[in-house]
Amino acid sequence: MEGIIQPVRGMGDILPAEIGYWQRLESTAREVLADYGYEELRVPVVEHTELFKRSIGEFTDIVEKEMYTFLDKSGDSLTLRPEATAGIVRAAISNGFTHNQRLRVWCMGPMFRHERPQKGRFRQFHQIDVEALGLPGPAVDPDLILIGARLWQRLGIGRVRLELNSLGTPAARNAYREHLVEYLRAHYDALDEDSRRRLDGNPMRILDSKNPAMRATLDAAPLIADHLDAESARHFETLCAHLKAAGVEYDVNPRLVRGIDYYTRTVFEWVTDALGAQDAVCSGGRYDGLIAQLGGEPMPAIGWAMGQERVVALMQQAEPNAPGFTPHAYLVMVGERAETAGLVLAERLRDAYARLRLQINLGGGNLKTQFRRADKSGAEIALILGDSEIERGVLAVKPLRAESAQKDCALEELPARLGEWLTGLK
Ligand code: ATP
Ligand code: MG
Repeated sequence: MEGIIQPVRGMGDILPAEIGYWQRLESTAREVLADYGYEELRVPVVEHTELFKRSIGEFTDIVEKEMYTFLDKSGDSLTLRPEATAGIVRAAISNGFTHNQRLRVWCMGPMFRHERPQKGRFRQFHQIDVEALGLPGPAVDPDLILIGARLWQRLGIGRVRLELNSLGTPAARNAYREHLVEYLRAHYDALDEDSRRRLDGNPMRILDSKNPAMRATLDAAPLIADHLDAESARHFETLCAHLKAAGVEYDVNPRLVRGIDYYTRTVFEWVTDALGAQDAVCSGGRYDGLIAQLGGEPMPAIGWAMGQERVVALMQQAEPNAPGFTPHAYLVMVGERAETAGLVLAERLRDAYARLRLQINLGGGNLKTQFRRADKSGAEIALILGDSEIERGVLAVKPLRAESAQKDCALEELPARLGEWLTGLK
């Protein structure tokens, strides 16, 4: 026999025991996003490699080393999406949404990055991604941030903190970049391999380095805040004022640069101290130049992406019992006649109660075994069908969580009476 086939490294299964958190996160996000007027836009998992190179940028971690890129059978270079913003912008352009239109959309699903797998970092991971196109702000920036805040509140997550910064316009960034490069060249000896390589391509990304040996050098580096253009500075002040008025706490982090090239002005990140090294749970920013850069009509835009694995980990810490799906009732069926009658009855009950969670016994077993399964299922009541019940045209009802006696109910009456015994069916 051949060996067992292992899952791909860094690509995990999400098992039934934890799926309750995922479903709760996703349904809450759908609700909140709809409440704020955002619509779903599903983009493909695969796009032309060129799209990510041109949007995310050649000298970024993602494009340099993390993309799953392959040639398909027609020889086209395709890439599994490492993030959703590029695809959404491509979709907005290819569907003609960039002509004087506004678009507020979200997308949810798997992303792929060939990183070193570790706690909170996977090669297939999931994001909830929200984008607002065509709105120059600065009111839309806090709107997006408030969506995040409301999600934390609805999900019962407390240990997150908001960090903000502004990267200014491309012109301001270029001017700042020169100061930064000059400073970094003067401290060339203190830079590690990666940073030396980035000096020419993406020097701002060096500020993101987590190498402790470079900490002191980077701490003393010039700050973008001292080089912001007046318009961006005003945009940032207004954003901060809006957040204060809305009661959202934040810290300005002048070193927050974000690892993707397309950001302009506002960047932000929700971080947590509860997950160890992978502390970013939701990150985003404004990308006013990207749509034109990809061939669309110039259009301002802003968005964020939330890492679902990390949010689920926070939900697990806040509530150790997974949101469950316990059945209301468990149908015990002993013998072949009972199984036939039971399958028919179960369908009649489902017709009568659209929200009924009824688990039927599958795989046979004697009365004792089936009762054990019924008890383990967490159901409130067991419905029991055996030969003797069928002969009498009844079904026995046994409460599993209360000390009341088992009683018979005529089969004909059961659909009408079930609601009396179970809570939350109507
Ligand atoms: P990090 O600094 O952790 O590498 P990032 O800046 O690369 O994050 P983004 O590209 O902004 O992250 O993605 C948005 C969010 O997606 C992050 O805040 C994080 O929660 C999550 N995320 C990113 N990469 C991974 C990954 N490999 N595994 C799990 N979650 C991830
Ligand atoms: Mg990363």
